[in-house]
Amino acid sequence: MATRTTCPYCGVGCGVLAHDDGRIEGDPDHPANRGRLCSKGAALGETLALPDRLLFPEVGGKRASWDAALDAVAEGFSRTQASHGPDAVALYVSGQLLTEDYYAANKFAKAVLGTANIDSNSRLCMASAVAAHRRAFGEDIVPGIYADLEIADLVILVGSNLAWCHPVLFRRLEVAKAARPEMRVVVVDPRRTASCGIADLHLAIAPGSDVALFNALRLDDAEHAAPCGIGAELATLMQWWRDTPRTVTLFSQGVNQSSAGTDKANAIINAHVATGRIARPGASPFSITGQPNAMGGREVGALATMLAGHLDYDCPGDRDTVAAYWGSDRVPHGPGLKAVDLFRAVGAGDVRALWVMATNPAVSMPDGNFVRTALAACPFVVVSDITHASDTLDYAHVKLPALGWGEKDGTVTNSERVISRSRAFLPAPGEARADWWIVAQVAARLGFAEKFAWAGPGEIFAEHARLTGLGRKRAFFIAPLADAKYDTLPPTRWPVGGPDRVAPETQRIVPTPFRAPVGAADAAFPLKLNTGRLRDQWHTMTRTGLVPRLMAHAPEPELFAHPLDAPGADGTLVRVSSALGDGVFRLRHDATLRPGDCFAPMHFTRQLAPAARVNGVVNAHPDPHSGQPELKHTPVRLAAFTADWHALAVSRDKLGPDLAPFAALAPVTGGWRAELAGTGAPEAAFARLRAVLDGPGHWIVLRDMAEMQFRAARIMHDRLQAVLCLGADHALPPRDWFVALFAEDVLAPAERRALLAGTQGGPPPSPLVCACHGVDAATIQRGGDTLDTVGRATRAGTGCGSCRPEILALLAARVPMLKIRA
Ligand code: SF4
Repeated sequence: MATRTTCPYCGVGCGVLAHDDGRIEGDPDHPANRGRLCSKGAALGETLALPDRLLFPEVGGKRASWDAALDAVAEGFSRTQASHGPDAVALYVSGQLLTEDYYAANKFAKAVLGTANIDSNSRLCMASAVAAHRRAFGEDIVPGIYADLEIADLVILVGSNLAWCHPVLFRRLEVAKAARPEMRVVVVDPRRTASCGIADLHLAIAPGSDVALFNALRLDDAEHAAPCGIGAELATLMQWWRDTPRTVTLFSQGVNQSSAGTDKANAIINAHVATGRIARPGASPFSITGQPNAMGGREVGALATMLAGHLDYDCPGDRDTVAAYWGSDRVPHGPGLKAVDLFRAVGAGDVRALWVMATNPAVSMPDGNFVRTALAACPFVVVSDITHASDTLDYAHVKLPALGWGEKDGTVTNSERVISRSRAFLPAPGEARADWWIVAQVAARLGFAEKFAWAGPGEIFAEHARLTGLGRKRAFFIAPLADAKYDTLPPTRWPVGGPDRVAPETQRIVPTPFRAPVGAADAAFPLKLNTGRLRDQWHTMTRTGLVPRLMAHAPEPELFAHPLDAPGADGTLVRVSSALGDGVFRLRHDATLRPGDCFAPMHFTRQLAPAARVNGVVNAHPDPHSGQPELKHTPVRLAAFTADWHALAVSRDKLGPDLAPFAALAPVTGGWRAELAGTGAPEAAFARLRAVLDGPGHWIVLRDMAEMQFRAARIMHDRLQAVLCLGADHALPPRDWFVALFAEDVLAPAERRALLAGTQGGPPPSPLVCACHGVDAATIQRGGDTLDTVGRATRAGTGCGSCRPEILALLAARVPMLKIRA
């Protein structure tokens, strides 16, 4: 037996079969993935037993009953509103919520609290695409579907590393191109990403110059593309564009996360509308969302700028339609605070009660140091989450345990407007409850029990579906689903009963003059920092950061810089600083970057690498239309991070993350690995860390004072319990070898001796490439000359396929091995 559900990670929205025996498979009948899963989805079964689970409500740091916690939330919000007004409160919610949870939270904010101050972390993801759709089509309509990518003759990926961020969709594109080699794929991105593995052309445009490129395509005038700083590639793309009516332009965060994100998206849409490349099979602009249910949040209007059911504040009558349907005269008449402004208002003391649901703004918001200070100063913070291991929990006065994936029941909508059921197949742990239930309980305490008296998520879905049939006609129409069988609802694309490809009645060309990104590089901060995802990680790593085989792909936070800009050798530590803050990363030289650009991953938190919370460095300039901040363009400088000692520790238990100025923790089979670096006498650091690692068993220790090399291993019953290697530089014994020893039940005598000598005996370790089958780069390079021969010899690339672009790059580069980033 298996439960049909949906992957909780990216906006592709893959169907998942969760078997009773614990196996996770792709659902062969789901239209998004047809049985495929990427490395993250395939590892879902390894994330079900989350440690650090939040199991009971807490008030003021102490366990409380649900009644007491819900009373505290209701009292905190009503007290704040009574003394500071209706807009002194806010909700900050998440694209991780199911649509029914989202609907309940939105109704609670607008109909109960009477504030429009509810915004979502989707503001950081696709708000610019939403604003652009509304400007171009009068409604937030994604005009394309996934099949368009497969039948197009030209696919342009803009600001999207589809290979790593939406791997199953990339795999569909790869298969389509293999079947029709004449199909052309173009990547427009300042960086050479893994998606270039199947590209016929890569345009490494100057960061932030996308508007200029698409204005040039629309007007068929290369002069407009001058800010892009490209030559021959531009002429090629313009010729291919002229020759190819069936063109899809797929865009994502590289377009949206910008102070000109809305204009960028509109420039893309303009080019398609002006040339008729829209609403036809294989021809469309196509925004793809990062989060699993960003689309659901847009549908229910759980954003400060929207009303429910695709109704808008600026359309006459829409607000009254919602207010009448909900039977509340409190529904606000205008928009509330968008994410960046919301946290600024918290910092200014204007918002004094905040409820955070299923998201981690202490890490994910730009200008992160300011956000953490604001959260610390906020008089009343409520956090609903599944885990204690969220940096935002540190600031909560009330903690509410929510259900996680596999435990909760509802729907999600993916990037091609397909609504799918997300079903529970696990019991609720501890006292965890559904987010919609928590919201309804607080609403009841504030006098709105009747309007939140749902027996389950099916009733919420039906209420929302009916709303889409009220008021002015919209493309977002799912009213017939109100009477459908919720439990067995198959994946369904909206508009229900409408065409596959929405043909907007109003297609407008929106003026999009080119604007340079805010915050030009200057003498103090001469480089531009771009941020993005890693292949095997999701958001702030609360799930994927616990899976050894996913962490093995990139166990440390790395910053990539062109060799001309790098302040030290490859593999040394680097401090990156902006006007807002700084961070410490492992430096990687990358000659494929444009000189002047650098890149760092967005995922790391205080839980795994406190010094590498990159959003403490990133600026927060919002787009004037969407409010989406400039996450991909921050002026920075780099400097070598000088440490007196470097250490590798492997232990059975997770170490604290505050052991050293640089610390990067990663789970390994049977324990945890920590890379550490700090200042002060190495011998003293060795003694301190040994004390931290102490426990049952006996130590074997080696000190070489002349070379400043220290080794220690703790062994109990011939099994390794802890290892510590510390030296004056990073050239410590091979990490992968220690990790492999750690997985063994019994240590052989030769391994004991080698352990202290720090000599491995075998070939040097090589980075993991294929997470499904545990195949490293060296094995792949020995395995054959093509994807097929490597796959047959090593099985690499034959699982989820997420590593196939890296295998191609390895085969192309052979030695030295090239590491490609998201
Ligand atoms: Fe999940 Fe991967 Fe599918 Fe995205 S592509 S929904 S992460 S399985």
